Amino acid sequence: MQTKLGNLVLDRWVDGDGDGKLLTSAVDGAPIAAISSAGLDFGDILHHARSRGGDNLRRLTFHQRGEMLKALAQYLMEHKKEFYELSTATGATRSDSWVDIDGGISTLFVFSSKGRREMPNDHVYLDGPPERISKNGTFTAQHIFTPKLGAAVHINAFNFPCWGMLEKLAPTLLAGVPAIVKPASSTAYLTELMVRRINASGILPDGALQLICGGVGDLFEHLNCQDTIAFTGSKNTAEFLQQHPKVISESVAFTAETDSLNSSILGPDAVPGTPEFDLYIKEVTREMTSKAGQKCTAIRRVIAPSAIAADVVAALSTALGEIRIGNPASREVDMGALASQGQRDEVRDRVAELSQQADVVYGGSDSFDVVDADADKGAFFMPTLLHCEKPLTSSAVHSVEAFGPVSTVLPYDNIDEAIELSRLGEGSLAGSIVTNDDAVARELVLGTAAYHGRMVVINRHCAAESTGHGSPLPHLIHGGPGRAGGGEEMGGIRGVLHYMQRTAVQGSPETLTAIGHRWIRGADENDPGVHPFRKTFEQLNIGDTLTTDTREVTLADIQHFAEFTGDTFYAHTDEEAAAKNPFFDGRVAHGYLIVSFAAGLFVDPDFGPVLANYGVDELRFAQPVNYGDSLRVRLACKQKTLRAGTGYGEVRWDAEVTNQDDDVVAQYDVLTMVATDEQWASVQ
Ligand code: NAP
Repeated sequence: MQTKLGNLVLDRWVDGDGDGKLLTSAVDGAPIAAISSAGLDFGDILHHARSRGGDNLRRLTFHQRGEMLKALAQYLMEHKKEFYELSTATGATRSDSWVDIDGGISTLFVFSSKGRREMPNDHVYLDGPPERISKNGTFTAQHIFTPKLGAAVHINAFNFPCWGMLEKLAPTLLAGVPAIVKPASSTAYLTELMVRRINASGILPDGALQLICGGVGDLFEHLNCQDTIAFTGSKNTAEFLQQHPKVISESVAFTAETDSLNSSILGPDAVPGTPEFDLYIKEVTREMTSKAGQKCTAIRRVIAPSAIAADVVAALSTALGEIRIGNPASREVDMGALASQGQRDEVRDRVAELSQQADVVYGGSDSFDVVDADADKGAFFMPTLLHCEKPLTSSAVHSVEAFGPVSTVLPYDNIDEAIELSRLGEGSLAGSIVTNDDAVARELVLGTAAYHGRMVVINRHCAAESTGHGSPLPHLIHGGPGRAGGGEEMGGIRGVLHYMQRTAVQGSPETLTAIGHRWIRGADENDPGVHPFRKTFEQLNIGDTLTTDTREVTLADIQHFAEFTGDTFYAHTDEEAAAKNPFFDGRVAHGYLIVSFAAGLFVDPDFGPVLANYGVDELRFAQPVNYGDSLRVRLACKQKTLRAGTGYGEVRWDAEVTNQDDDVVAQYDVLTMVATDEQWASVQ
């Protein structure tokens, strides 16, 4: 009897009803498993995610969720061999699988580390500084982000069964939101295997991850305003789902990553014989053939100067001629199969449509050599290059996506034309420009950026380290306007915030400090009883404040600082010249002298729990300090971030330096590392 893929629902593996639909290998058509989600209660699945999964995840801080992602990534790394083995059945070569499997796992690592570095060890994320909205500062405002109290429904495309899941899962879990994953049917077996391993690891809390293999039944009927849908697939499906009555009536957040006719522009300077010309040919060839061209970011439109379009066609044809097609498990093969026979038929139809307006100049044949595989059984497709003589007046080349190893060369006569051609794609995920002329690069980027989610400019100087046209990175946003769906994913912490709600909270500084765990000017200044530098991380309270004695700044101090540091800028050394400066009446103290004197005023010199000062943030000099002025510092404990397992935490202090008239002359955050109780006890 045929194996059926499991559905992970309510923390149990459940088979769908009936025989299900048979999934077969892309390489030889052999049956792999059947898929069915019939009989599942989709309302229960959503309820379980929201209640069990959401509750469990929200109990953790951002840092604990980050640790969880890291543990998961490490666990999956240990099991990646079996993912690679099964991945071959999707038609993927080893390097295609590397993008999918290692690329997906590394996305978990990146979100883990970004979450722990850039988010607080807390449950609320503060969006920027407080907004001053009252005259006296007793009523203020702070934007905050908290996790949505719903589920994230992830509907994924077939081409990246692992990465497609993990790139959505990482920011979702970091946000504290449970996920319901629905992989594309044709390659769901690989996603299912990975989810089985994730589930077996026990790393994620109950309810955090559920998997539906097959259709989503009436799931959409149960959505509410706290849920999020992140969709990757075709524009038609996205439009259909976006118009679901529940999505509309409940304003369900909907992110779509859809079709994209990405372009790559070759600069006019990059003629044959230049490194850029060779880089371009390499990049287009790689984009056409990696993952057999089934990449949403692949180059579909090759925009090249008319004068050398023939050279581009010739060089690409030669490079494509060297690509060995066949069994992706074979080391001799450069390009595997499309994901299914159906997909091959689909690509064939799209090429036929494209060839109404463009000539096939390479490939396009059903008869080609296939290494170590049966061409009739596997979903193999020959790389196919087209050339469109009049691209400005041909619509198909800008709107028909052949989701396989297919691209069209579009010649341009001048930069404006290149820009126009790129824009005719009506919104793309990724665009690239290959030029060694930075003025051209700027003109092209400014002319086309509004139509792109990501752009890469490649030249001889960055090529060796370039991540290439088609690689979405967890640090950078993935998504694009128009045809690309109008969505945005990843982009570091930006991607996490898509699963959270931003709320403007107004109240007194004291109240907002209590809510956000970040001290706001105007909130209570607590007398800690002892110098705050004598306190350990745990003993310190947000709002603990030190107000120092005063120190006069003398002319001798300014002269000494100038000579000692070598900063003899005229404003500190030349009375007459300084007075001509519109900001000063005469010689003024160096800004860094003010900061140095401030440190001299506020530090406690003896050995203590404060381990180090690792920087200052937001330093501003509000007004000049003249000799004879007297400085005082108010230092308040602003924010604490425990670095679990290290023996210390980061403490951010709000420093305000005032003069004898109580005017603020400098403001900044002092960043320190402070020992925990345990660490401090161990070194005394
Ligand atoms: P698709 O047919 O739109 O399928 C995408 C996903 O939607 C699959 O999981 C599919 O499940 C699901 N789906 C289809 N109908 C649905 C419905 N009525 N309700 C709920 N889910 C539904 O796309 P595809 O042809 O498989 O994928 C290729 C397309 O995806 C290409 O056009 C490509 O450009 C695009 N793509 C975009 C990106 C990106 O990041 N922008 C990435 C990869 C692919 P089933 O498989 O079970 O039908």
